Amino acid sequence: MAEVVLDGITKRYGDTLALKDVSMTVPDGAFVVLLGPTGAGKTTTLRMVSGLDVPEGGDVRIGGQSMRGLSPAQRNVAMVFQQYSLYPHLTVRENLAFPLKSPLLRTPQAQIDMKVAEVAEVLQIAHKLDNKATALSGGEMQRVSIGRALVRRPSVYLMDEPLSSLDAKLRADLRIELKRIQATSGATLLYVTHDQIEAMTMATHVGVLDRGRLVQFGTPREIYEDP
Ligand code: ADP
Ligand code: ADP
Repeated sequence: MAEVVLDGITKRYGDTLALKDVSMTVPDGAFVVLLGPTGAGKTTTLRMVSGLDVPEGGDVRIGGQSMRGLSPAQRNVAMVFQQYSLYPHLTVRENLAFPLKSPLLRTPQAQIDMKVAEVAEVLQIAHKLDNKATALSGGEMQRVSIGRALVRRPSVYLMDEPLSSLDAKLRADLRIELKRIQATSGATLLYVTHDQIEAMTMATHVGVLDRGRLVQFGTPREIYEDP
């Protein structure tokens, strides 16, 4: 159960009011696409949920639990950034396995191998498992970044334009895969994009931000039929 609630979130960076009293209830298992012009507060919204940054006012709750004081590691969330953030000296296999190697998790090696193989298959990267990350194309690196989030099977995914560096064919394939992952895993997704096709094909809900305010939130049908 991972309903995500933003309750009156305010965030300031110096003189910039990045978020102003943003409240949003994201139902368990929803695929929320956040839209809005550059600087609207989309990335900041994800950072509030991930715990990478702390709100000035308001609270974030996941599955009914307040995230106040919890570090990113203590939240059951995985974030995918627009810019791939891999360990360059490790292979694809090692990069994908990394999140599962934490001593706290004590995941058996056989299970790690299985999860890595499964994710590599889904992301069409299985043939590159033994290549160093530095030997990959940009699109391949971004798929591995997405894979590093998927192996953890979090209850909440936070994705910041994860497909924007990919070519059109791969973007279309991965739209279908991400939608399938959301539908079968029951995970909740908050997903930032500028791509209207992604919004319309993947979203169960759309949130529109403008200058730090949430100006619309609803199903794609509600948003697009009621401009
Ligand atoms: P978006 O993702 O919609 O483009 P952001 O959430 O990145 O918007 O940024 C919202 C506002 O906050 C922008 O005006 C941006 O310049 C500002 N901002 C974001 N992060 C920082 C930061 N670390 N320091 C200063 N200003 C920031
Ligand atoms: P996007 O529009 O793709 O969200 P941004 O360029 O707004 O990307 O932000 C990229 C990163 O830079 C974010 O981590 C954000 O917090 C940070 N950032 C954005 N604006 C500023 C700023 N004015 N000063 C410092 N950091 C910023």
